Amino acid sequence: MIEAVFKPVLSGYPLSELQELLHPLPRFRVKQIFSWISRGVRSFAEMTDLSQSLRADLGERFSLYASEVAARLKDPDGTEKLQISLRDGCLIEAVLLTDGEERRTACLSTQAGCPQGCVFCKTGALPFRRNLDSAEIVEQFLHLRGAAADGDADANTISNIVIMGMGEPMLNLAELRRAVSVFTASEGFGLSGRRITVSTSGIAAGIRDLADNGPRVRLALSLTTADTALREHLMPVTKSNPLPEVKAALQHYQQCEGRRITLEMVLLGGLNTRREDVDALQAFIRGLDAVINLIPWNPVEGMSFAGRPLREPEPGELAAFMAELEQRGIAFTRRYRKGRTIGGACGQLGGMREPYSLTTRDRVSTSTPSPVTSTSFSRRQPPWTGS
Ligand code: SF4
Repeated sequence: MIEAVFKPVLSGYPLSELQELLHPLPRFRVKQIFSWISRGVRSFAEMTDLSQSLRADLGERFSLYASEVAARLKDPDGTEKLQISLRDGCLIEAVLLTDGEERRTACLSTQAGCPQGCVFCKTGALPFRRNLDSAEIVEQFLHLRGAAADGDADANTISNIVIMGMGEPMLNLAELRRAVSVFTASEGFGLSGRRITVSTSGIAAGIRDLADNGPRVRLALSLTTADTALREHLMPVTKSNPLPEVKAALQHYQQCEGRRITLEMVLLGGLNTRREDVDALQAFIRGLDAVINLIPWNPVEGMSFAGRPLREPEPGELAAFMAELEQRGIAFTRRYRKGRTIGGACGQLGGMREPYSLTTRDRVSTSTPSPVTSTSFSRRQPPWTGS
């Protein structure tokens, strides 16, 4: 089979790499090009402080973008979701969140699909395709910023980035590093690492790598439950990354970074809102500087666990869980849910229109970690679900 040959895409190059790629262009010229890219120009012709011949030469040898917006949905609450088409046909999604104070946050994906198979997550039920490269990560930000600016010149700012979209960032740390280097360069986007949060399902080696080698960003762990037996079913990554190892890695991160960690708890009705879950959480946070973020599950049609449809916690169930946390002095926040009507909320990505077909072949990959789907877990009957 003949594979398509694509020109190198400049949007994902950190400044130092761009300098090497464009050698022997002088450094100030490379900085100009880097700056134009971060301003979101769509063609080399728009780089008006470069000579005509240089613009033509760049256009011959390179591309500016590796992706394009395929579809766009807007929730009445202001959340926007973009479906983005990559050059090989993969589809990914990115979300723009706006809070009441006009702070805009870009939620970006790092993989097409996800091999982690968390049973409550739509993305985890899709076949894993591949890691994204840094251009494909950076361009999600550019596309979202373009959407934010649409018809509103003052809206052309995104203040925060959360790496909480499709995929497990720690499985694609090298390309994420390059993308963060682009985001934080003062010659370009100029975002502080304090405004970038990377969320992991709990890969201890990745957390240690991040702590030891950067980038210096905020860290969130999608914990969901600290009860190992339940978590092994809800988040299969727990089997290869036991919670004590994950906790030790988090403590190492905190020693290196001195930053508070966010522990995200996706609350599933009748599953992880038990007193035992609070007990386990209380033990897990001992020795950690962490804030708990409660996320009542955002419904995704057709998702089940242990033969039963997943559901949101009942209001009383949620209230009781929060009261138990309060009684024990465990500080928490409750995430304001956004983008649910467009499948743009936490755990819903991958549903704009069905971009993949779930085939047996897709579910079994020889070159990547084996994706575990929610359906494979729905056959099990763990003891806590009753008969
Ligand atoms: S929650 Fe995150 S790590 Fe788990 S399947 Fe979904 S995208 Fe992957």
